[in-house]
Amino acid sequence: MKKSSSNTCTICSSYKNSPLYSGEGVEFVMCDNCTLISLYPRPTEEEYEKFYKDEYQKHRHDINTYEQAVRIREQKGLKGKKSYIEELGEFLREGISVFDIGCGWGTFLKLLKDSKGFNVEGIEPGAMQARVARDYYGLKVARETLSDYVERNSGNRFDLVSMIHVLEHFVDPGKVLDDAKSILKSDGVLFVAVPNTPRPNEPLDRFFHFEHCYYFTPLTLNKLLKKHGLKIISLTSTKDELRVSAVFKEDSRREIDTSNLSKLYSEREVRSSLNKQVRKYRILRFLKSVARTILPWRLFQVLRGWIISILKRLSVIDI
Ligand SMILES: [Zn+2]
Repeated sequence: MKKSSSNTCTICSSYKNSPLYSGEGVEFVMCDNCTLISLYPRPTEEEYEKFYKDEYQKHRHDINTYEQAVRIREQKGLKGKKSYIEELGEFLREGISVFDIGCGWGTFLKLLKDSKGFNVEGIEPGAMQARVARDYYGLKVARETLSDYVERNSGNRFDLVSMIHVLEHFVDPGKVLDDAKSILKSDGVLFVAVPNTPRPNEPLDRFFHFEHCYYFTPLTLNKLLKKHGLKIISLTSTKDELRVSAVFKEDSRREIDTSNLSKLYSEREVRSSLNKQVRKYRILRFLKSVARTILPWRLFQVLRGWIISILKRLSVIDI
Protein backbone atom coordinates (compact mmCIF):
# COMPACT_ATOMS: atom_id res chain seq x y z
CA MET A 1 0.00 0.00 0.00
CA LYS A 2 1.33 3.43 -0.92
CA LYS A 3 1.44 6.09 1.76
CA SER A 4 1.02 9.71 0.90
CA SER A 5 -1.41 11.68 3.05
CA SER A 6 -0.61 14.50 5.46
CA ASN A 7 0.47 13.56 8.94
CA THR A 8 -0.87 16.00 11.45
CA CYS A 9 -2.09 14.26 14.61
CA THR A 10 -5.65 13.03 14.33
CA ILE A 11 -6.34 13.78 18.00
CA CYS A 12 -4.65 17.12 18.68
CA SER A 13 -3.72 18.36 15.16
CA SER A 14 -0.08 18.82 16.16
CA TYR A 15 2.42 18.26 13.38
CA LYS A 16 5.26 17.61 15.82
CA ASN A 17 6.15 13.99 16.39
CA SER A 18 9.15 11.80 17.19
CA PRO A 19 10.24 8.44 15.80
CA LEU A 20 8.96 5.49 17.83
CA TYR A 21 9.54 2.36 15.78
CA SER A 22 10.91 1.63 12.35
CA GLY A 23 11.02 -1.78 10.75
CA GLU A 24 10.87 -3.36 7.34
CA GLY A 25 9.06 -0.79 5.17
CA VAL A 26 7.22 0.83 8.07
CA GLU A 27 7.81 3.73 10.37
CA PHE A 28 5.72 4.79 13.35
CA VAL A 29 5.90 8.10 15.16
CA MET A 30 4.54 9.34 18.46
CA CYS A 31 2.82 12.72 18.72
CA ASP A 32 4.93 15.03 20.91
CA ASN A 33 1.78 16.57 22.32
CA CYS A 34 -0.77 13.79 22.98
CA THR A 35 1.36 10.60 22.51
CA LEU A 36 -0.82 9.10 19.76
CA ILE A 37 1.22 6.58 17.75
CA SER A 38 0.66 6.65 14.01
CA LEU A 39 2.03 5.23 10.79
CA TYR A 40 4.33 7.65 9.00
CA PRO A 41 3.42 8.65 6.39
CA ARG A 42 -0.20 7.47 6.44
CA PRO A 43 -2.09 6.29 3.33
CA THR A 44 -4.85 8.41 1.79
CA GLU A 45 -8.51 7.39 2.23
CA GLU A 46 -8.63 6.23 -1.42
CA GLU A 47 -5.52 4.07 -1.07
CA TYR A 48 -6.91 2.63 2.15
CA GLU A 49 -10.28 1.69 0.62
CA LYS A 50 -8.68 0.12 -2.42
CA PHE A 51 -6.33 -1.95 -0.27
CA TYR A 52 -9.13 -3.36 1.89
CA LYS A 53 -11.45 -4.08 -1.00
CA ASP A 54 -8.91 -5.66 -3.33
CA GLU A 55 -5.76 -6.76 -1.54
CA TYR A 56 -6.28 -7.26 2.20
CA GLN A 57 -7.86 -10.71 1.96
CA LYS A 58 -4.98 -12.27 0.05
CA HIS A 59 -2.32 -10.37 1.90
CA ARG A 60 -3.57 -11.33 5.34
CA HIS A 61 -5.20 -14.71 5.02
CA ASP A 62 -3.81 -16.34 1.91
CA ILE A 63 -7.23 -17.82 1.16
CA ASN A 64 -8.12 -18.09 -2.51
CA THR A 65 -11.49 -19.81 -2.75
CA TYR A 66 -14.82 -19.69 -0.95
CA GLU A 67 -14.63 -23.45 -0.29
CA GLN A 68 -11.22 -23.07 1.32
CA ALA A 69 -12.54 -20.23 3.51
CA VAL A 70 -15.54 -22.30 4.61
CA ARG A 71 -13.33 -25.29 5.45
CA ILE A 72 -11.22 -23.09 7.70
CA ARG A 73 -14.31 -21.62 9.39
CA GLU A 74 -15.61 -25.14 10.01
CA GLN A 75 -12.34 -26.07 11.69
CA LYS A 76 -12.03 -22.92 13.76
CA GLY A 77 -15.65 -22.48 14.83
CA LEU A 78 -16.78 -19.50 16.89
CA LYS A 79 -14.90 -20.02 20.14
CA GLY A 80 -12.40 -17.23 19.41
CA LYS A 81 -15.10 -14.63 20.05
CA LYS A 82 -16.54 -16.05 23.28
CA SER A 83 -14.50 -13.80 25.53
CA TYR A 84 -16.14 -10.71 23.99
CA ILE A 85 -19.54 -12.03 25.01
CA GLU A 86 -18.27 -12.45 28.57
CA GLU A 87 -16.72 -8.98 28.48
CA LEU A 88 -19.96 -7.38 27.31
CA GLY A 89 -22.08 -9.37 29.79
CA GLU A 90 -24.14 -6.60 31.40
CA PHE A 91 -24.77 -4.77 28.11
CA LEU A 92 -26.25 -7.80 26.36
CA ARG A 93 -29.86 -7.25 27.41
CA GLU A 94 -32.60 -9.36 25.92
CA GLY A 95 -33.68 -8.44 22.41
CA ILE A 96 -31.01 -5.84 21.63
CA SER A 97 -29.79 -5.03 18.12
CA VAL A 98 -26.11 -5.24 17.22
CA PHE A 99 -24.09 -3.77 14.37
CA ASP A 100 -20.51 -4.94 13.79
CA ILE A 101 -18.25 -2.63 11.76
CA GLY A 102 -15.65 -4.60 9.79
CA CYS A 103 -17.23 -7.89 10.87
CA GLY A 104 -14.77 -10.06 8.90
CA TRP A 105 -16.10 -13.61 8.57
CA GLY A 106 -19.03 -12.68 10.83
CA THR A 107 -18.06 -14.94 13.73
CA PHE A 108 -18.88 -12.41 16.47
CA LEU A 109 -22.31 -11.71 14.97
CA LYS A 110 -23.01 -15.39 14.42
CA LEU A 111 -22.16 -16.17 18.04
CA LEU A 112 -24.46 -13.39 19.28
CA LYS A 113 -27.25 -14.50 17.00
CA ASP A 114 -26.99 -18.18 17.98
CA SER A 115 -26.37 -17.78 21.70
CA LYS A 116 -28.56 -14.75 22.42
CA GLY A 117 -31.00 -14.57 19.53
CA PHE A 118 -30.12 -10.93 18.89
CA ASN A 119 -30.98 -9.00 15.78
CA VAL A 120 -27.52 -8.65 14.21
CA GLU A 121 -26.11 -6.89 11.17
CA GLY A 122 -22.70 -5.88 9.88
CA ILE A 123 -20.53 -4.50 7.12
CA GLU A 124 -17.31 -5.88 5.71
CA PRO A 125 -15.37 -4.45 2.75
CA GLY A 126 -13.49 -7.70 1.98
CA ALA A 127 -15.29 -9.73 -0.72
CA MET A 128 -14.50 -13.23 0.54
CA GLN A 129 -15.19 -12.46 4.18
CA ALA A 130 -18.50 -10.73 3.41
CA ARG A 131 -19.54 -13.70 1.27
CA VAL A 132 -18.74 -16.22 4.01
CA ALA A 133 -20.64 -14.10 6.56
CA ARG A 134 -23.68 -13.96 4.28
CA ASP A 135 -23.72 -17.35 2.58
CA TYR A 136 -22.12 -19.65 5.14
CA TYR A 137 -23.30 -18.03 8.38
CA GLY A 138 -26.55 -16.63 6.94
CA LEU A 139 -25.97 -13.14 8.32
CA LYS A 140 -27.17 -9.76 7.12
CA VAL A 141 -23.80 -8.39 6.05
CA ALA A 142 -23.23 -5.78 3.34
CA ARG A 143 -19.97 -5.50 1.46
CA GLU A 144 -19.39 -1.80 1.81
CA THR A 145 -17.57 0.85 3.79
CA LEU A 146 -18.96 2.48 6.91
CA SER A 147 -19.36 5.82 5.08
CA ASP A 148 -21.42 4.12 2.35
CA TYR A 149 -23.61 2.38 4.92
CA VAL A 150 -24.20 5.59 6.87
CA GLU A 151 -25.03 7.47 3.68
CA ARG A 152 -27.73 5.02 2.60
CA ASN A 153 -28.97 4.28 6.13
CA SER A 154 -32.52 5.43 6.63
CA GLY A 155 -32.58 5.89 10.38
CA ASN A 156 -31.53 2.43 11.64
CA ARG A 157 -30.01 2.69 15.10
CA PHE A 158 -28.51 -0.06 17.22
CA ASP A 159 -28.16 -0.85 20.93
CA LEU A 160 -24.61 -2.10 20.47
CA VAL A 161 -22.11 -1.09 17.79
CA SER A 162 -18.86 -3.02 17.82
CA MET A 163 -15.44 -2.60 16.23
CA ILE A 164 -13.16 -5.50 17.00
CA HIS A 165 -9.62 -4.87 15.80
CA VAL A 166 -10.90 -2.39 13.26
CA LEU A 167 -10.46 1.19 14.52
CA GLU A 168 -6.67 1.07 14.27
CA HIS A 169 -6.91 0.28 10.55
CA PHE A 170 -8.75 3.46 9.54
CA VAL A 171 -6.94 6.50 8.19
CA ASP A 172 -9.47 8.79 9.90
CA PRO A 173 -10.66 7.06 13.10
CA GLY A 174 -12.41 10.25 14.25
CA LYS A 175 -14.75 10.13 11.27
CA VAL A 176 -15.35 6.44 11.96
CA LEU A 177 -16.40 7.26 15.51
CA ASP A 178 -18.76 9.99 14.24
CA ASP A 179 -20.27 7.54 11.75
CA ALA A 180 -20.55 4.86 14.44
CA LYS A 181 -22.34 7.34 16.72
CA SER A 182 -24.80 8.14 13.95
CA ILE A 183 -26.06 4.54 14.01
CA LEU A 184 -25.98 4.17 17.81
CA LYS A 185 -29.13 4.63 19.93
CA SER A 186 -28.91 7.48 22.45
CA ASP A 187 -28.46 4.92 25.27
CA GLY A 188 -26.44 2.51 23.11
CA VAL A 189 -22.96 1.16 23.77
CA LEU A 190 -19.96 1.35 21.46
CA PHE A 191 -17.54 -1.53 22.00
CA VAL A 192 -13.99 -1.14 20.71
CA ALA A 193 -11.13 -3.66 20.87
CA VAL A 194 -7.65 -2.72 19.63
CA PRO A 195 -4.12 -4.10 20.09
CA ASN A 196 -2.75 -3.17 23.50
CA THR A 197 0.28 -1.07 22.60
CA PRO A 198 1.80 -0.89 26.10
CA ARG A 199 1.55 -4.69 26.35
CA PRO A 200 2.35 -6.10 22.89
CA ASN A 201 1.88 -9.84 22.65
CA GLU A 202 4.61 -10.52 20.13
CA PRO A 203 7.99 -9.24 18.93
CA LEU A 204 7.72 -5.64 17.75
CA ASP A 205 8.65 -6.51 14.16
CA ARG A 206 5.42 -8.51 14.03
CA PHE A 207 3.36 -6.24 16.29
CA PHE A 208 3.93 -3.07 14.25
CA HIS A 209 2.78 -3.43 10.66
CA PHE A 210 1.54 -1.21 7.88
CA GLU A 211 -2.11 -2.31 8.02
CA HIS A 212 -2.49 -0.36 11.25
CA CYS A 213 -2.53 3.40 10.82
CA TYR A 214 -2.63 3.85 14.62
CA TYR A 215 -1.61 2.13 17.83
CA PHE A 216 -3.55 3.15 20.92
CA THR A 217 -2.92 3.22 24.62
CA PRO A 218 -5.77 3.66 27.14
CA LEU A 219 -4.74 7.33 27.28
CA THR A 220 -4.91 8.05 23.55
CA LEU A 221 -8.02 5.94 23.00
CA ASN A 222 -9.76 7.86 25.78
CA LYS A 223 -8.66 11.18 24.25
CA LEU A 224 -9.97 10.20 20.83
CA LEU A 225 -13.31 8.97 22.18
CA LYS A 226 -13.73 12.11 24.30
CA LYS A 227 -12.97 14.36 21.36
CA HIS A 228 -15.86 12.70 19.55
CA GLY A 229 -18.41 13.04 22.33
CA LEU A 230 -18.02 9.62 23.95
CA LYS A 231 -16.97 8.52 27.42
CA ILE A 232 -15.55 5.19 28.55
CA ILE A 233 -17.65 3.26 31.07
CA SER A 234 -15.57 0.08 31.01
CA LEU A 235 -11.91 -0.55 30.16
CA THR A 236 -10.05 -3.85 30.18
CA SER A 237 -6.35 -4.12 29.45
CA THR A 238 -5.41 -7.73 28.72
CA LYS A 239 -2.00 -9.06 27.74
CA ASP A 240 -2.71 -8.51 24.08
CA GLU A 241 -5.80 -6.37 23.81
CA LEU A 242 -7.39 -3.16 24.95
CA ARG A 243 -11.18 -3.32 25.22
CA VAL A 244 -13.43 -0.38 25.97
CA SER A 245 -17.16 0.16 26.17
CA ALA A 246 -18.19 3.76 25.59
CA VAL A 247 -21.45 5.72 25.61
CA PHE A 248 -22.48 9.24 24.64
CA LYS A 249 -21.06 11.76 27.09
CA GLU A 250 -24.63 12.84 28.05
CA ASP A 251 -25.48 9.26 29.14
CA SER A 252 -26.07 8.98 32.89
CA ARG A 253 -23.77 5.99 33.34
CA ARG A 254 -20.58 6.79 35.18
CA GLU A 255 -17.34 7.35 33.28
CA ILE A 256 -14.33 5.35 34.50
CA ASP A 257 -11.68 7.25 36.43
CA THR A 258 -9.28 8.50 33.74
CA SER A 259 -7.29 10.87 35.95
CA ASN A 260 -4.24 8.60 36.20
CA LEU A 261 -4.01 7.63 32.51
CA SER A 262 -1.61 10.49 31.65
CA LYS A 263 0.82 9.19 34.23
CA LEU A 264 0.41 5.48 33.51
CA TYR A 265 0.75 5.90 29.74
CA SER A 266 3.11 8.84 29.41
CA GLU A 267 5.58 8.88 26.53
CA ARG A 268 8.29 7.64 28.86
CA GLU A 269 6.19 4.71 30.15
CA VAL A 270 5.10 3.59 26.68
CA ARG A 271 8.63 3.76 25.27
CA SER A 272 9.94 1.91 28.30
CA SER A 273 7.43 -0.95 27.99
CA LEU A 274 8.16 -1.31 24.27
CA ASN A 275 11.90 -1.35 24.95
CA LYS A 276 11.37 -4.08 27.55
CA GLN A 277 9.61 -6.12 24.90
CA VAL A 278 12.52 -5.61 22.49
CA ARG A 279 15.02 -6.77 25.12
CA LYS A 280 12.91 -9.79 26.06
CA TYR A 281 12.65 -11.08 22.51
CA ARG A 282 16.29 -10.27 21.78
CA ILE A 283 17.32 -12.55 24.65
CA LEU A 284 14.86 -15.28 23.62
CA ARG A 285 16.05 -15.20 20.02
CA PHE A 286 19.68 -15.32 21.12
CA LEU A 287 19.03 -18.34 23.36
CA LYS A 288 17.18 -20.02 20.53
CA SER A 289 20.04 -19.53 18.09
CA VAL A 290 22.56 -20.88 20.62
CA ALA A 291 20.39 -23.93 21.34
CA ARG A 292 19.92 -24.59 17.63
CA THR A 293 23.68 -24.53 17.11
CA ILE A 294 24.67 -26.85 19.93
CA LEU A 295 21.76 -29.31 20.12
CA PRO A 296 20.74 -32.04 17.66
CA TRP A 297 17.68 -30.88 15.65
CA ARG A 298 15.22 -33.33 17.19
CA LEU A 299 16.25 -32.56 20.75
CA PHE A 300 16.11 -28.85 19.96
CA GLN A 301 12.52 -29.18 18.74
CA VAL A 302 11.41 -31.09 21.84
CA LEU A 303 13.12 -28.67 24.23
CA ARG A 304 11.76 -25.68 22.32
CA GLY A 305 8.19 -26.94 22.75
CA TRP A 306 8.69 -27.47 26.49
CA ILE A 307 10.32 -24.11 27.04
CA ILE A 308 7.65 -22.23 25.08
CA SER A 309 4.86 -23.85 27.09
CA ILE A 310 6.64 -23.05 30.39
CA LEU A 311 7.27 -19.42 29.37
CA LYS A 312 3.63 -19.08 28.30
CA ARG A 313 2.44 -20.48 31.61
CA LEU A 314 4.67 -18.00 33.43
CA SER A 315 3.31 -15.22 31.15
CA VAL A 316 6.85 -14.38 30.04
CA ILE A 317 5.70 -14.69 26.43
CA ASP A 318 2.20 -14.57 25.03
CA ILE A 319 2.54 -16.22 21.65
ZN1 LIG B 1 -1.45 14.52 19.10
